[in-house]
Amino acid sequence: MIISPPNRLSDRIEEVGGKISTELRSIVREVEEYVSTANHYGDALVGASQNLSKTEDRNVIREIVAQLIHETKDVEAQNRALSEQLASSQAQVVELRETLDTIRYESLTDDLTTLANRKHFDRSLLQAMEEAEDSGEPMSLLMTDIDHFKKFNDTFGHQTGDQVLRLVAIAVKQNVKGQDIPCRYGGEEFAVILPKTNLRQAVAVAENIRKAVMAKELIKRSTGENLGRITISIGCSHYTPGDTMQDIIERADQCLYAAKRSGRNLVKCETDPDVNVMDSVVTASGAA
Ligand code: GH3
Ligand code: MG
Ligand code: MG
Repeated sequence: MIISPPNRLSDRIEEVGGKISTELRSIVREVEEYVSTANHYGDALVGASQNLSKTEDRNVIREIVAQLIHETKDVEAQNRALSEQLASSQAQVVELRETLDTIRYESLTDDLTTLANRKHFDRSLLQAMEEAEDSGEPMSLLMTDIDHFKKFNDTFGHQTGDQVLRLVAIAVKQNVKGQDIPCRYGGEEFAVILPKTNLRQAVAVAENIRKAVMAKELIKRSTGENLGRITISIGCSHYTPGDTMQDIIERADQCLYAAKRSGRNLVKCETDPDVNVMDSVVTASGAA
């Protein structure tokens, strides 16, 4: 089966849905035909058995047997058709399942960077927080933002900016492992969910990411032009029992703003003395 060229996810989901319905309809039709043939065969057997008990005439018996052979061949043919239909449906269903897996993956992936997208982030953060709540293990969150990226775009163009986003995404990905979930949170902001990780360990991961980005010399592929370097700022928060998703994101954001305020190319966490996350939470709830 051929799934048509890439188009919008919703169209593709609809297409796969349509194919599943068609497949199910033909299975149902084939099974119905099979049941009807089997019923007919059952009736024919009962009739033949009654007729056989009433006669000893060899010709009549021969006729009954010939009829039974004919009916049996019909059932055999129907049987074969059903098996073929089921085998072909099985192959189609395996293919449809693979297509659905691909669609599912794409729906949770950011096209530009191939990191988890915002939808994936929302789901994964909730899950990581629930796991931390249930297990009592720590869990941390990093929010990163590229420094002066607007200026970079204005100077070198949006396309080059996009290449840099890919580069930063690679640096983030290369400096996390296992169960950590790096995501593209928004435009030039990346988030990393760090299950089973306390704040001190999270800061160490953030420092590695920050240094990896800073270490990259940006060379424009098409011209060989040296574009210098870029830096990122990172805020780290950790799960506190009773947190909502908004709370833990808000605190990481406040740390990120503190890093920006303190000069950029820095990592700040919520226990740093110059980060006052409580202020923002009180202001936020006071405003609500
Ligand atoms: P700051 O150091 O305070 O973060 O300064 P900034 O210029 O990076 O400001 P901000 O974080 O608000 O960055 C927003 C800019 O990021 C706007 C736009 O130029 C750039 N940007 C956002 N999304 C994309 C994207 O998908 N591609 C490209 N090339 N640039 C993006
Ligand atoms: Mg930003
Ligand atoms: Mg920025």
